[in-house]
Amino acid sequence: MRDFNPDSVAFAKGHFIAGAVIDEPGERLSVARPSDAVDYAELPVASVETVDRAVKDATEAVKRSGWATRPPRERARAMQRWAELIEAKAEELGQLEALGSTRPIAQAVTGDVMGTAEGIRFFSEYADKLGGEVAATRTDHFGMIVSEPYGVVGAITPWNFPLSMASWKVGPALAAGNAIVLKPSELTPFSTVRLAQLAVEAGIPAGIFNVVQGTGAVTGDALSRHPGIAKLSFTGSTRTGIAIMKAAAESGIKPVTLELGGKSPQLVFADADLDKAADCIAGSLIANAGQACVAGSRLIVQRQVADALVAALKSRLAHVAPGPTWKSSTGFAPIISELQARRIDTILARSREQGAELLLGGSRIEGHGGAFYQPTLLAGVTTENAAVREEIFGPVLTIQSFETEEEGFALADHPEYGLAAGVYTADLGRGLRAVRQLKAGTVWINRYSRTLDFILPTGGYKSSGIGKDLGRQAVEANLRHKTVLIDIGA
Ligand code: NAD
Repeated sequence: MRDFNPDSVAFAKGHFIAGAVIDEPGERLSVARPSDAVDYAELPVASVETVDRAVKDATEAVKRSGWATRPPRERARAMQRWAELIEAKAEELGQLEALGSTRPIAQAVTGDVMGTAEGIRFFSEYADKLGGEVAATRTDHFGMIVSEPYGVVGAITPWNFPLSMASWKVGPALAAGNAIVLKPSELTPFSTVRLAQLAVEAGIPAGIFNVVQGTGAVTGDALSRHPGIAKLSFTGSTRTGIAIMKAAAESGIKPVTLELGGKSPQLVFADADLDKAADCIAGSLIANAGQACVAGSRLIVQRQVADALVAALKSRLAHVAPGPTWKSSTGFAPIISELQARRIDTILARSREQGAELLLGGSRIEGHGGAFYQPTLLAGVTTENAAVREEIFGPVLTIQSFETEEEGFALADHPEYGLAAGVYTADLGRGLRAVRQLKAGTVWINRYSRTLDFILPTGGYKSSGIGKDLGRQAVEANLRHKTVLIDIGA
């Protein structure tokens, strides 16, 4: 992949409903490029009426196209053609992703786009492997549990990995035989439309994958409340997750999958391979500049190795490669918006007032147009410190130390979040005790990041969420179960 000119990328700026890009008069938003804060497009905000139209068209498409009723291998094949088309268009999709989001072009093409294609391929393979059960009932009856798609499901995605997040919702929904209406983040709206266009080009019927653009307050709320949406899947902040759960309950009870925020611990024991731990911890802070739900943002380190580990982290974090996302040399992402950068400023200021000691970074990287933040290390923090409690969504790591294993596990336990945790130790028994003790949806031992093993589900404990993305669990969440009991005579 090469550098590209951000002013020469062409893309559709509307909603994508029933297989066509649609623009309607009404409210509009300016959308800015995070790399240089230049407004580059206007986005239509789907009204309640436009959302209604998308849901009704999707409902029609399910009936008309036979998406749910045609032989499931056909569904699988259409999704596999879609995955191939995404790969064939990797450069184009990668540019669109890099243009509007925080994803540098090199990572967008090889990571986000290729991962999106592979994820869709993974889910396609479920299409004809779903079945029900025959139940152990009395013998003069025959009992079955049959699984069925919901019909039309809704999804709302965040800005941090727009294509990947969309594929995690659309893949399982479509493999299970549903249609979907998806609202991307208003900060990163355009790559999702291209993804949906490619689905239609690959032979997925028009109206099965629809995109409505707009704000959370108007479009997201309308989607969450629409009675034609039988199930909702959301990825974003815990605060929005609460609003969506409420809206889903108030509008006729629909199941919700919520993938929410995190404040994940990196628990390092003295017997760990410190170089490897430092690589993983620094890598998690640098990846998307810490703007990842699973960012390992709290280091909890056994006291006797704390100084050595902090020195190893400093050397890895001192030099990053910030730059515009359209340069292939860029390795360190911008912060999504000035608003978000100010939020980081505010939490850091509060944390330092509460006694945090700055070991590295702590301010903006100037001279780039967009907002960039230095990798930042904060020591001397208690569990009550703002930087320990709040999800910062930036390259900020707090450092706490402990003496005993028990203290380490206790510090790792966050009062609110439980998304992921990293444990570094050479002692297998201790690693497995950590798995038992840590209240987190994912525990990584001697590593810290996802792999392309889509079979592994992801999701949170506590306020980090309900339900799972990825894995078989994500497909099952897109199905409901019907009990059948037949009197077959004595
Ligand atoms: P956000 O909650 O601000 O927005 C997410 C989406 O919800 C956007 O599309 C937004 O328009 C929409 N929205 C906002 N208010 C809404 C409302 N009232 N009704 C319906 N929709 C509404 O989150 P964000 O800033 O885009 O993303 C960052 C957050 O996402 C972080 O908290 C991060 O941890 C979380 N996240 C979680 C996971 C996970 O798998 N658990 C993955 C990625 C991001």
